[in-house]
Amino acid sequence: MTPVVELRGVSKVYSGDVAALRDVDVAIGRGELVGIVGPSGSGKSTMLNMIGTLDRPSAGTVHVDDHDVHSLADRELSALRARVLGFVFQQFHLAAGVSAVDNVADGVLYTGTRLRDRRSKARTALARVGLAHRLDHQPHEMSGGERQRVAIARAVVGEPALLLADEPTGNLDTRSGADVIALLRELNAGGTTVVIITHDRDIAARLPRQVEMRDGVVVGDSHG
Ligand code: ADP
Repeated sequence: MTPVVELRGVSKVYSGDVAALRDVDVAIGRGELVGIVGPSGSGKSTMLNMIGTLDRPSAGTVHVDDHDVHSLADRELSALRARVLGFVFQQFHLAAGVSAVDNVADGVLYTGTRLRDRRSKARTALARVGLAHRLDHQPHEMSGGERQRVAIARAVVGEPALLLADEPTGNLDTRSGADVIALLRELNAGGTTVVIITHDRDIAARLPRQVEMRDGVVVGDSHG
């Protein structure tokens, strides 16, 4: 089966001649749970930007869900991203003053579905992350762990092929962080491909596959 994401010979050079990625080859298959791990500055965010089609490589090819990112116009790329990818960030990025249901309903805004149907999907997604009792709560009325679970519900409400989580536990205490990782595992067990970017070796060590970055190079891949 074709991978969900495939990077071949990918390099990224920023202005000032910083090679943030150098000749990276990584393929992520459907159903995998992968940690991308490495110290600060090793190229993890740049890798996330490549996998998430948020930026284009300086060299090499990126395929997402069988599409060559290079051949797509910006508008097509946005559509691919909306359809195939779900993002979770360290800082949650929820809209302030907006209920959990409506934050999650925004995750399928692009589908053109009516608000009533989007809210119905959002309620199902919130139940899936264990927040059926927090539907009308606004972000400031929830704990960090709950906010991150709302953000995860928003990321999966459109049933993306790939969930990309960038330091999802970075703003959480150990206990809430462990809950969030457990939830990501559960979603993976339900069929979603999950990539977790982390500098936390303990978290990475418990994932079935770890891609290890150092100075823009993949220095280890437990599946490689
Ligand atoms: P990590 O996420 O592992 O901390 P990054 O991918 O953010 O690593 O950074 C890799 C390298 O690229 C670092 O040396 C960083 O300073 C550099 N870098 C990242 N983004 C930019 C940018 N927009 N412009 C110039 N250099 C950058």
